[in-house]
Amino acid sequence: MIEVKNLNKSFKGISVLKNINLTIQDNEIYGLVGPSGVGKSTLLNCLTGLEIYQSGSIAIDGIKLETLSEFKMRQFRKNMGMIFQNFSLIGRKDAFHNIALPMECWKYPKNEIKNRVEELAELTGIQDKLKCRPSELSGGQKQRVAIARALVMNPKYLLCDECTSALDPKSTVAILGLLKNLQQKFKITIIVVTHEMDVIQNLCERMAILDKGEVSLTGNVKEIFENKPKELKELIGEDNQ
Ligand code: ADP
Ligand code: MG
Repeated sequence: MIEVKNLNKSFKGISVLKNINLTIQDNEIYGLVGPSGVGKSTLLNCLTGLEIYQSGSIAIDGIKLETLSEFKMRQFRKNMGMIFQNFSLIGRKDAFHNIALPMECWKYPKNEIKNRVEELAELTGIQDKLKCRPSELSGGQKQRVAIARALVMNPKYLLCDECTSALDPKSTVAILGLLKNLQQKFKITIIVVTHEMDVIQNLCERMAILDKGEVSLTGNVKEIFENKPKELKELIGEDNQ
């Protein structure tokens, strides 16, 4: 479970996240939406310990991130898989070694790495692409490699930062389906950051709307899209006042 309490984050004195409060339960797919520049990526980076915050608290499974040493933080980060819009793959490595990278960093035995990479390649549908470099793969295939890499350390959480924004509609649907299947199989908690309402409606149970660094609304996705409160209308441009 992730509990964010009164979180404040600024860059060089400019406030980016303002008094954020959020609770994300285990095994749910949670959507975080808002226009570009509101602080979505910054919030994810705070959750993975990649950004420090000035005040407030982030507790993940009861562990407060702000209390962790650098060493403990590194250990802790194994729990958090991340995927991005631009895939963030290493161009000179083939798919196998991109997926294997986190396990290689942690010096797992070679046979264990091979078994795990092959298992994930099969689950993500790229078993015949393991020898390909990123430049030889389609966008959808690259994101499958990135998903396999994000899951290779068996994380409890998967954070997706605009992970379908660079994909065509067909690949988007396929990747969303894959994420749903993986969530069921591994019982992971997924946080989906996006500005695409289709993605939220297709994938998430609960959501939060971020507006200028603040959480303007949280709730059940179906209810929010049925009732269309003003916070949603503002976001999707149906606010005519
Ligand atoms: P989003 O992901 O919602 O598009 P970001 O979290 O990337 O938004 O950015 C939120 C705000 O913080 C933006 O105004 C951005 O310019 C600023 N910002 C993000 N990262 C940095 C940084 N490393 N240094 C200074 N400002 C930053
Ligand atoms: Mg972003």
